[in-house]
Amino acid sequence: MEQSVQYGKTSISYTLSRSKRKTLAIEVHPDLRVKVIAPNNASLDSIEEKLIKRGSWIIKQRRYFESFLPRTPRREYVSGETHLYLGRRYVLKVKNTDKSEVKLKGGQLLVSISKRAINTTARDVLAGWYKSHAEKILTKHLQENVKLFRSFSIKEPPLIIKRMKKRWGSLTSTKKLILNPELIKAPVKCIDYVILHELCHLLHPHHGKEFLQLREIIMPDWKRWKERLEQISA
Ligand SMILES: [Zn+2]
Repeated sequence: MEQSVQYGKTSISYTLSRSKRKTLAIEVHPDLRVKVIAPNNASLDSIEEKLIKRGSWIIKQRRYFESFLPRTPRREYVSGETHLYLGRRYVLKVKNTDKSEVKLKGGQLLVSISKRAINTTARDVLAGWYKSHAEKILTKHLQENVKLFRSFSIKEPPLIIKRMKKRWGSLTSTKKLILNPELIKAPVKCIDYVILHELCHLLHPHHGKEFLQLREIIMPDWKRWKERLEQISA
């Protein structure tokens, strides 16, 4: 059920669901949706009161997630836009030169497009750059993270880099590791988190107690990086 509440000049729309829980929960999702889960007996007035009370937090969360939306269709690939690389935001600068290339300089992502490449866009040049960096970095981090499993006698799984709509990584039934190239936009620790999670699955296919214990040993601060990753929409 879609509702909305007025907070100052801002109208906050949210979906409301009910549950047996005793307290009200407000979630702001990376796609900017606000979800409210309220106890069955909570009145709409009391729900709205709580939403207003947390209004500044909701707006702050939404603004934060907004800055992490790297795949909004509105991207024009023009100078001034920001794009993510390894968890940092860079300001895009596009220019026409003799050679198509991408460089990181200061806080800038400099995309040069060759004057001779008539049909090439900044988007193409940047996509190629992201892809080659994803291949290099994901391969390197897989090799490094496998070393943490030295005492468990596992073999480095073959790596497949493939775009997935809703997942950062997965392990196939034939024990091949699939990683989402979009991970290149996240901090390296988030990349490690995804790889380590999947490597733990080589030993324990499900999220049972043994899996959780192993993950805790291998990456004690996994939760921090999981949360950070959730702020980047897949
Ligand atoms: Zn898992």
